[in-house]
Amino acid sequence: MHATLSTTTSAIVVRGVHKHFGKVHALRGIDLEVQQGEFFGLLGPNGAGKSTLINLIAGLARASAGTIAIHGHDVVRNYRQARRILGVVPQELVYDPFFTVREVLTIQSGYFGLGPSNRTWIEELIETLNLTEKADTNVQRLSGGMKRRVLIAQALVHRPPVVVLDEPTAGVDVELRQVLWCFANRLHSEGHTLVLTTHYLGEAETLCGRIAILQHGGLIALDTKEGLLARCPYRRLVVTLSNPAPHLPALLEERVVAREGALLTLRIHRIHEPVGSILDALRNAGLQVMDLQTQDSGLEEVFLDLTQERNGVAQTTGS
Ligand code: ADP
Ligand code: MG
Repeated sequence: MHATLSTTTSAIVVRGVHKHFGKVHALRGIDLEVQQGEFFGLLGPNGAGKSTLINLIAGLARASAGTIAIHGHDVVRNYRQARRILGVVPQELVYDPFFTVREVLTIQSGYFGLGPSNRTWIEELIETLNLTEKADTNVQRLSGGMKRRVLIAQALVHRPPVVVLDEPTAGVDVELRQVLWCFANRLHSEGHTLVLTTHYLGEAETLCGRIAILQHGGLIALDTKEGLLARCPYRRLVVTLSNPAPHLPALLEERVVAREGALLTLRIHRIHEPVGSILDALRNAGLQVMDLQTQDSGLEEVFLDLTQERNGVAQTTGS
């Protein structure tokens, strides 16, 4: 879909980036490229280095080694140009307590040298993010969710072509999540490049085209969503037995990922464990199968698979 853009400058290019915090080696040689117009997901467990990478992209911190460019502008050497192209919504709720929502946005707009002509856009942001009622309230007095909306509006005040959102939906209510998803989709459809970090895998699965998975400061996967999903060799088999079976033969038991009365969920290998062989094993154990259903693995499963593999955890366990 973005093939036509491949000859243009990449939205973000990260090359050989390392980041040390004292003894902590937070990023261990990151290479990745985000094309213009992509909706890119950055996933990883807590402490993987996602926010560190985003802070480097935003020019808020310096890499210990390596380079980052936004639309070809080096984030250190050409900070101002890079900054203009980028809108970053940080994970932390940082705000200036002395101003109202509308003032914060007007001041931010001024930083970018944008005058009164930007007012229409500021009002549109206020409205789209449902901030109208709070527009003249001091930011300090807003709830966490409202503050997050202000941060998003602030990041977008200069209409940046590249928008980076660091866990925008962490701990927010369902309504705000919906607003954010809608807004993110709208920006993407209008041609913006989006980078989203989230630990809600379903969110990345719904929104993102390409996904990078970060763990212990390194990239362990970088692929299209479809490519990642196809990579998982497991699927789930949900079996309804005639009676609950507290004891199963060891071979079956180690495949159980959930158990609810007579309902068993097993994680089985697509190729090496045909459904027939599982059914035979159940029958041989004297169990009667009333119903069964298979489910394809989601991103959650792929994620667990990849991250556990790196931690050296056996493949047959699940959560
Ligand atoms: P994520 O956003 O994926 O949860 P972070 O980028 O916040 O991960 O953190 C990556 C690692 O770097 C963690 O081990 C974290 O403790 C460490 N770290 C992050 N920021 C700092 C900092 N300012 N000083 C020291 N260590 C930090
Ligand atoms: Mg983070």
